[in-house]
Amino acid sequence: MSLIVLKFGGSSVGTASRFENVASIIEGHIGAGRRVAVVVSAMQGMTNQLVDLTKNFTKTSIGRENDAVVSAGEQISSGLLALALKKRGIEARSFQGWQIPITTESVFGESRISYIRKDLLVDQSYVPVISGFQGVSESGDITTLGRGGSDATAVAVAHVIEADECLIYTDVDGVYTADPRLVLNAEKLRSISYNEMLELAINGAKVLQAASVDIAKSYRVKLRVLSSFAADQNCGGTIITNETEYITPIKIAGITHNSSCFSFNLSSSHEPIVEKLSSQNIAVTHIADSLYYANKLHKYEILEAIDGQNSNVDNDIGIINIVGIGAMDISDDVVKMLLTSDVVVKNTFNSDLSFSIVVPFQQAELAINILHAMLFSAL
Ligand code: ASP
Ligand code: MG
Repeated sequence: MSLIVLKFGGSSVGTASRFENVASIIEGHIGAGRRVAVVVSAMQGMTNQLVDLTKNFTKTSIGRENDAVVSAGEQISSGLLALALKKRGIEARSFQGWQIPITTESVFGESRISYIRKDLLVDQSYVPVISGFQGVSESGDITTLGRGGSDATAVAVAHVIEADECLIYTDVDGVYTADPRLVLNAEKLRSISYNEMLELAINGAKVLQAASVDIAKSYRVKLRVLSSFAADQNCGGTIITNETEYITPIKIAGITHNSSCFSFNLSSSHEPIVEKLSSQNIAVTHIADSLYYANKLHKYEILEAIDGQNSNVDNDIGIINIVGIGAMDISDDVVKMLLTSDVVVKNTFNSDLSFSIVVPFQQAELAINILHAMLFSAL
């Protein structure tokens, strides 16, 4: 009998009736003879509301009490989903991170899972319905795993219970060459490598949380992204595995854009600060010379740490990332193409698997569409 982990994101449980739909998908898997463990996110919009509530009292998004508040949405979802399953005659039990326990580092807001006890998750007398996104530190404090962190819960659970596969149910039916909500002709990939998926996720693809892909890559967890909205639940979605099935000969997996970031200057005296931020799992990425960028989510913490002075904060940026092992081969053509289309190129930088272009915020959507047409539609 196969054992699978099913993860349902916020859009899959957006309303009470959507819980019924999720329960029927779970019922389908059980009916097909599979054992399942379920991970669920907060109802759509709820985590944002909880974050907003904290803003009444504090500017920081990182702290013990913030996590006590923002982890609460998942508790509601796991309880409701267990009730929806029981209503169908399926024995189910909800579990919070601390009950299992899912132990994490002693970091708030962006914590990482260090250990999961599997006893309660492999008891075959019920379907475990696990709250995503939350854990408990060694000292007993509730922690959260960063935005989108239910994916990390699901992948880590799949590893620990040795599941055959981890299915991530979302509102798109796979990983696309670009966000299909922005780029009309974006195409679905049948498979993508862990490394390229990680690069897409780090660079703003919202379909999977980067930390979750990192866990999947480390432990070779078989991951699949699919839609909970599709009428045909047998559609294949996208598999995250060792190799990408490229759409074109130029070996580009996809293009992302990240418009929730800001850039700033750091001097070499700031190095210990970058190290401290990274020990809190706050990513600060080097662009060129003394120029860095980070997610606006952590702007307050970063500007506090660097004292805000002479830091030349630029909020007017969007970063386009072309991801794939062929990304550097086309970098010159990409820049030329943008310049001839009157897109302002503020900067470029690259990693082993990506080429990134910094453009003005307002031009990011245009740029991604131009580049997607250039790289994917001339076939
Ligand atoms: N509810 C959390 C968030 O909105 C975690 C998740 O959805 O994965 O970020
Ligand atoms: Mg998500």
